[in-house]
Amino acid sequence: MNSEMLVHQQIRQLFQSANSFLIVSHIRPDGDAVGSLLGLGLALQETGKKVQMVLNDGAPSSFTHLPGASQITRKAQPGFEIAVVLDASDLLRIGGVLGDRVPDLNIDHHITNLNFARINFVQPEVEATSAILAENLPEWGLQISEPVAKALLTGVVSDTIGFRTSNVRSRTLRLAADLMDKGADLSELYNRALTRRSYEAAHYWGKGLERLEREKRLVWTTLTLADRQKSSYPGNDDADLINILSSIEDSDMCIIFVEQKNNHVKVSWRAQNGWDVSQLALSFGGGGHPAAAGADIAGTLEEVQEKVLAATRSYIQMGLAKKNEKMQQNIVIMVPEGENK
Ligand code: AMP
Ligand code: MN
Ligand code: MN
Repeated sequence: MNSEMLVHQQIRQLFQSANSFLIVSHIRPDGDAVGSLLGLGLALQETGKKVQMVLNDGAPSSFTHLPGASQITRKAQPGFEIAVVLDASDLLRIGGVLGDRVPDLNIDHHITNLNFARINFVQPEVEATSAILAENLPEWGLQISEPVAKALLTGVVSDTIGFRTSNVRSRTLRLAADLMDKGADLSELYNRALTRRSYEAAHYWGKGLERLEREKRLVWTTLTLADRQKSSYPGNDDADLINILSSIEDSDMCIIFVEQKNNHVKVSWRAQNGWDVSQLALSFGGGGHPAAAGADIAGTLEEVQEKVLAATRSYIQMGLAKKNEKMQQNIVIMVPEGENK
């Protein structure tokens, strides 16, 4: 049996033999965190298992329409046999829900995943953790019912920003079509996940957009605790303002600095094709994907902004130098025949 078959068998066995599960995903949950949590949680419940679904920050209001969302709690109750972590590249990302317990299973698609569990199923080439589940749940003995399909399609739509990221393949669309065939309404889930935003969120964006800055092909802005208060935005994230920044023409990279309580700052990077911001985020203790990464960094807004901008500038310089070098190597000097005689 090869190692891939072995890991499938281990996961199937885990899901069959245990009776109670704790499933957890990351802080400041996005659509893939909520979608994969509900997708796996509901699929296990449908086979009669006892399941706790936990998000340290609770379910964001843009996903409370999903079946099962009201079951999501902020804290774990003791007494579960198996702990599963979804869509998180390290244990800090789950906000201490598990204490020092080593998780039994880690299912994720981040290239920076630290393989922190007993069984690690990490596929960086897949667009979303929800897509990993959609592809593998049947292999692991679980069904994709209508509620499960709705949750998983939400995750795929969210992480691909509506099938717009460069990792989207024809396979992604087939997978989404299969989820639609199981009863998930694409247009409804798409609008809830990506288009509809509260008045407060739009107001909050305005604060960040007013402070927009640009230096060559790098664009950035900040969101402060005061902005959140003034706009009555209830979350501690950027309300997806980063998606607007990354749509700005003639830029390679964008960054948002979101001030948090307890003297730290949440930083998000987005990069156009050809750049890899995951290692930059990793160097600040965060992680992510080549085109989208983040980190939680200690310090004031000014301190973090200065450090991160300096590191990003030198990363861009290094990248440009490398590209230049490559171009030089690829230049073939064409001498017309006869001229060098
Ligand atoms: P965000 O900027 O929060 O939307 O996240 C972009 C990507 O980076 C997502 O795939 C996140 O899971 C990942 N990410 C964000 N923050 C962190 C962090 N502090 N540690 C590890 N990965 C992160
Ligand atoms: Mn996520
Ligand atoms: Mn994800």
